[in-house]
Amino acid sequence: MERLFINGGYVESKSDRAIEVENPATEEIIAEVPDASAEDVDRAVEAARKAQREWRRVNALERAELLHLCAAGLGEAADELAVLLTREGGKTLKENRDEIDWSITAFRHLGEVARASQGRVVGPTKAGQMNLVLHEPLGVVAAIYPYNYPIVLLAWQVAAALAAGNTCVVKPAEQTPLATLRLGEVFSCLPGGVFNVVTAGGERSARLVEHPGTDMIAFTGSVATGSKIMAAAAPRIKKLLLELGGSDPFIVLADANLDVAVQGGVFAAFLNAGQVCTSAERFYIEEPIYDEFMARASEYAGGLRVGDPFGEVDIGSLVSRAARDQVEQVIGELVSRGARVAHGGGVPAHLPRGYFFEPTMIEVTEPRGQQIRREIFGPLATFARVRDLDHAIELANDSDFGLGANIYTSSLETAMRAATELQAGTVWINDPLKDNDAAPFGGYKMSGLGRELGFEGISAFTQAKHVHVDFAQVPSPEWWFPYTRPDIAVELEESALA
Ligand code: NAD
Repeated sequence: MERLFINGGYVESKSDRAIEVENPATEEIIAEVPDASAEDVDRAVEAARKAQREWRRVNALERAELLHLCAAGLGEAADELAVLLTREGGKTLKENRDEIDWSITAFRHLGEVARASQGRVVGPTKAGQMNLVLHEPLGVVAAIYPYNYPIVLLAWQVAAALAAGNTCVVKPAEQTPLATLRLGEVFSCLPGGVFNVVTAGGERSARLVEHPGTDMIAFTGSVATGSKIMAAAAPRIKKLLLELGGSDPFIVLADANLDVAVQGGVFAAFLNAGQVCTSAERFYIEEPIYDEFMARASEYAGGLRVGDPFGEVDIGSLVSRAARDQVEQVIGELVSRGARVAHGGGVPAHLPRGYFFEPTMIEVTEPRGQQIRREIFGPLATFARVRDLDHAIELANDSDFGLGANIYTSSLETAMRAATELQAGTVWINDPLKDNDAAPFGGYKMSGLGRELGFEGISAFTQAKHVHVDFAQVPSPEWWFPYTRPDIAVELEESALA
């Protein structure tokens, strides 16, 4: 049984329950982690609370230096972490190695950004006074993650939370806890209690949200769980950062560079077997190029190699049997409503073991009905014809989600119009899925609350405090006692007490 990481060391859990970790590419059980007990969670929260009293006093330069050491630790352990991620999650080794590189840049960037405090001095309302706006930490952040990018999603939030003076209790997804547990050692430069990891299933994770000792919940995961967390956080008015699901549109107009659109589209749909919050799920292709786009995209998708995530492949395994069952169920539903499988649609014949699935393209005739209210978390994308830009934008926005949106066009005017009209936290023009540590990331509508990365991603983990200073130390007779009765122009009724 793996151990939890609490107060600077690995400790045995007090739990009576364990969670099995399966390698989804081989269906082998590779480890067991504790399903943390209430006592485990209490211990981690208490350690984080105690550590935060000191951590908030550490100066910004020293905190940044420690985050650079965390980044260096990630660099040293990069290969080992990538192997662990591949074994527990089924994502390809290449994608997991990239994930560690992105995590390193996030730690370095956020550590430095936090040094440039975003507090300010505002103009006073009286001479001899000064008004300061400080950005202070919230306290203990409970940080809960999904299985698809366990380390980089943690880096984006935990680096910002720590840089801002908070401490963290991290809870990885039950499918992918191993690389995250390893971070305890990788981040050994941090003082004990600043970074803690507990493992638990959904039911027992709820304790972290409700716990009176956690001040903020940073959550990345599905809308369904995000909504439960919001409700559980309500009684204590706990601060929330919610990064939730998406159903991103991908618009290709007739004037697009088709080579770029085909390659970008197939990548955006099938990266990490489509298990990306910003996977392109709803393709809207302008009528004159629809047939050519479909033919070229099918051919390109047909060249993708599915298989052992440690091998020379483009697509690994889905994370679990349940994830693959869900993809099969969605395909069944779409086909029963008249959709046509244009490419893929099944388990690759040469991969009977493991939860592999072909990259699948589905043509729909009723684009308004397709996947508007749900997210497909797998290698499956839908395709529909659109008349023009207006039609495409109307369908793209007809969704409860608003995480990302893509448009392919060679017209600057069209691109900029789409950029302003698409309802999404990120709009990608002619290049899919790129993130930038210096720019905010998050969702419109049901895709989330708040932003990570950029300046926004640091301020999400702070609260503003106004400090009013009277350095002249002069009394204010115009405000203070004794009052002078105001000389009011309108006639007042005689006071009963007069
Ligand atoms: P999930 O919501 O099922 O689980 C996420 C985490 O929440 C897990 O650690 C789980 O144990 C925990 N959890 C479950 N119930 C809980 C409860 N009641 N209280 C507290 N924690 C609880 O998500 P998943 O299936 O692991 O991941 C896929 C989802 O994540 C997709 O919807 C995807 O779009 C989303 N996602 C969003 C982003 C983003 O940045 N917006 C990034 C990656 C993934």
